[in-house]
Amino acid sequence: MAIRFVTSNEGKVREAREYLADIEPVEQVQYDYTEIQSDSLEEIATHGARETFDALEDDDPVIVDDTGLFVDALGGFPGPYSAYVEDTVGVDRLWRLASEEEDKRARFTTVLAYADETGTETFTGSVAGTLVAPRGEGGFGYDPIFEYNGQTLAEMDTEEKNAISHRGRALAAFAEWYADREA
Ligand code: IMP
Repeated sequence: MAIRFVTSNEGKVREAREYLADIEPVEQVQYDYTEIQSDSLEEIATHGARETFDALEDDDPVIVDDTGLFVDALGGFPGPYSAYVEDTVGVDRLWRLASEEEDKRARFTTVLAYADETGTETFTGSVAGTLVAPRGEGGFGYDPIFEYNGQTLAEMDTEEKNAISHRGRALAAFAEWYADREA
């Protein structure tokens, strides 16, 4: 038995493996599920997990991770559109936009959706921090511009990031539920 993590993002898989290693092997699978247009990370992730599990016709459960960066002074932008904004505008230009605001607070939220033959469950994790000029070589995506307790997420190793991050918190909630369920 393995948990199939449906993503093309190696960074997400690295973090999930680090967290779930003692519980279940994590297998990365690539499947181009429909990213529905929605303001809700939960709806997007749930739809993706259900569609992928049904399409792959395999018993192993799947998880889908949908994450957004929500900038307070920009009304929560880019939020559910974070991937599109990273691909188009880029991380440095999002920082330049935010740097003009006095309030630099932001939040990452991850919704992990789990699907198997019995149904779908979701697990949410968030972390509040401050946007800063890019620093650090680790992590991925917006990590270099997101500071928590004096360090950007890109300055942390995977274990340190998982201990405080949106994804780490969602993985913790998932791991607890999964362990109870297996017991
Ligand atoms: P998605 O969940 O794959 O749609 O990713 C949304 C966007 O947020 C992408 O641009 C990712 O690179 C970025 N992202 C997702 N997770 C993280 C993270 O843990 N740190 C920084 N950026 C992230």
